[in-house]
Amino acid sequence: MLLYGRHITSPSGEKAVLIASSTLQPLGETVGILSQLFIYVSIVTFILAIAVSLAIALHVSRPIVKITEKARILATGDYNMTFERGQYSEVDQLADTMNYATSGLKQAEKMRNELIANVSHDLRTPLTMIRVYAEMIRDISRNDPEACEQNASVIIEESGRLNSMVQDLLVLSKLQSDTHPIHPSVFNLTHTIESAISKFNMLLKKDGYDISFNPAGPVFVNADEQQIEQVLYNLLSNAVNYTGEDKKVEVAAADRGDKVRVLISDTGPGIEEKDIERIWDRYYKVERGQGRAVVGTGLGLSIVKSILLNHGADFGVDSVVGSGSTFWFELDQVTEDDAE
Ligand code: ADP
Repeated sequence: MLLYGRHITSPSGEKAVLIASSTLQPLGETVGILSQLFIYVSIVTFILAIAVSLAIALHVSRPIVKITEKARILATGDYNMTFERGQYSEVDQLADTMNYATSGLKQAEKMRNELIANVSHDLRTPLTMIRVYAEMIRDISRNDPEACEQNASVIIEESGRLNSMVQDLLVLSKLQSDTHPIHPSVFNLTHTIESAISKFNMLLKKDGYDISFNPAGPVFVNADEQQIEQVLYNLLSNAVNYTGEDKKVEVAAADRGDKVRVLISDTGPGIEEKDIERIWDRYYKVERGQGRAVVGTGLGLSIVKSILLNHGADFGVDSVVGSGSTFWFELDQVTEDDAE
């Protein structure tokens, strides 16, 4: 029991004693109920906390576990999979990166297969020729000097073709890998064109070929000179290869304000509209009789395309079937003073 007493005096002056009593039992019960409740609440909160943490852990880790499993499959060489994005941004970023890596690997694999198929197909022809003609020398023409010489020159020609194919392949694979950046410098394009043409003229004049040049005065560009020489060489050798009976090739440089356009024209068979898009592809060759002066590898224009794309240059071909083609490319002009 809780007892409380005190004297009190009424307003009229009468004195009295006030006693208040209360039993303590309900308070004890309340304390008991409260502490029981506290235990229940603690247990429920504990269970809830464990459940929530498990749920969060699963939510966070499940997408990562999935990505890890797929990455393991990817490592075995199976590139046909996509990494699913999760419910939060870090997993999305990881999935995006893995998808990007997968598409890169897929492309590399495709290029590798294509390259092996193309190379083995293209190398087979000259190799077969070399073998057949060598066998002919051994079995038939060994005692006939004239036939022997003819057969030997086919072998020499075909091995030259093999050599240029392998060289072109190396150039192309270097150009298409990121390990071969361009090394730009300011140079006089007119000089470069002149020297490329004079090399060709030296080689081909005896066969009656004539390459003329219509320059636009000294023109300076900021580009990789060696690679631009390669472009000129490939376009010139195609023009010489495909030009008509007159054996004429015309080169011109046209001043177009802040750009210079180099044009290489021949009088050959031209290129049909349906082939124009595809001639820049690797190994694409329009079906027709063999060229004459220079042996083609089917890689020349894809090298030209790679170089000009690396330079951010515009390029193209204007062609009229039956009267000739003009291949062109444009480079930004700079002044000689930009050389510093
Ligand atoms: P190729 O070694 O066969 O010449 P390219 O990549 O240089 O390979 O050219 C691809 C194809 O484009 C050639 O096979 C040819 O059919 C066509 N081509 C290229 N240049 C000319 C041209 N000046 N005139 C006509 N056709 C051309």
